[in-house]
Amino acid sequence: MRRTVYFDNAATSYPKPAAVVRAVTEALRTAGNPGRGSHRLAETAAELVYDCRAVAAEMFGAEPERVVFTAGATHALNAAVKGLAEPGCHILIDNYAHNAALRPVAALASAGLAEYDVYDADGDEERVLANIVQKLRPTTRLLIATHQSNICSHILPIGSIGRLCREYGIHLIVDAAQSAGHLTVDLRTMNITALCVPGHKGLFGPMGVGMLISAPNVTYKTIFEGGAGIHSLDAAMPEELPERLEAGTLPLPAIAGLLAGIRYVRQTGLQEICLHECTLTSVLTGRLREISGVTLYGESVGSVVGFNVAGYSPAEVGAHLASRGICVRTGYHCAPLAHRTVGSFENGSVRVSVSHLNRMTEIDRLVNAVHDLQK
Ligand code: PLP
Repeated sequence: MRRTVYFDNAATSYPKPAAVVRAVTEALRTAGNPGRGSHRLAETAAELVYDCRAVAAEMFGAEPERVVFTAGATHALNAAVKGLAEPGCHILIDNYAHNAALRPVAALASAGLAEYDVYDADGDEERVLANIVQKLRPTTRLLIATHQSNICSHILPIGSIGRLCREYGIHLIVDAAQSAGHLTVDLRTMNITALCVPGHKGLFGPMGVGMLISAPNVTYKTIFEGGAGIHSLDAAMPEELPERLEAGTLPLPAIAGLLAGIRYVRQTGLQEICLHECTLTSVLTGRLREISGVTLYGESVGSVVGFNVAGYSPAEVGAHLASRGICVRTGYHCAPLAHRTVGSFENGSVRVSVSHLNRMTEIDRLVNAVHDLQK
């Protein structure tokens, strides 16, 4: 029996490092509810939560109290978009956006609370900035940017977009679902207002946790209300972060796993991870390009490769690869705008997404399996 090859890391990273598995188990054995008591078990939990805020803050260029735990990137994007939008404001969103960003914006628009436009994030940095400027209105308050697309490694120039947003007094919300743990992301140097991060993808944590990490002095309307462990006699949510956006019990075992995952990424080194992933995907795209009938999508090199094979639907290619023990994702990947942008809207595509744990021999197996489709 050949070893399974896992190329679905954009959905969730697998396998999780042993330290992450140990940390989750240990938290279940030793920790109580953080912020809900002064006994030892509650204090152990509170320390874990603080440690995770601190390492995440250091990694992403923020202060620990600006790290809010969410259920995932989708929750973080909803909290950021709905928490920062002002009634009647105009929002810009890029043409690679995932439904996790698009749908909260569309929901505000259909409730008559905001208007939005999609900006073209293709081409070089200058062109992307020009496209944004062209769509700006006096009422534009939010700009959403997908750092790395989840269908094809298209990477947006976040630093330059951040400078532009600062110049125009616009909040920049970054969907870092496919960049956190893969590429450098820094709130301070990139002028990011709100960074939306999943814990279970590039940071190697468990599913069920993510983060909304904010710049100083940003205030949010709440989308959930409930117990926050402080100011318990007030009917209103506390004003201060992180408690303002953390109603209810935090997913402590998942946070403990995320802490171990972030430490693992930092020990391995982001540059090392990025270099290895980009080497794998550039070899993969080069070799797929040589196979007749293969269409590749996207221009940038990152951790995601999207393609189709003439004569086969994406689902057929996925099933063929699965029969060889190779796990990929097929279809629309919740990103209709991105498929319109790259020209795969009709049927979607096959997505190969790597982590630094993948090996070149696994790329060989994938390429050989795609070759075999043409025989
Ligand atoms: N944004 C992008 C670009 C994604 O790829 C995903 C998930 O695949 C999300 C947002 C949603 O992330 P989560 O699963 O953590 O809610």
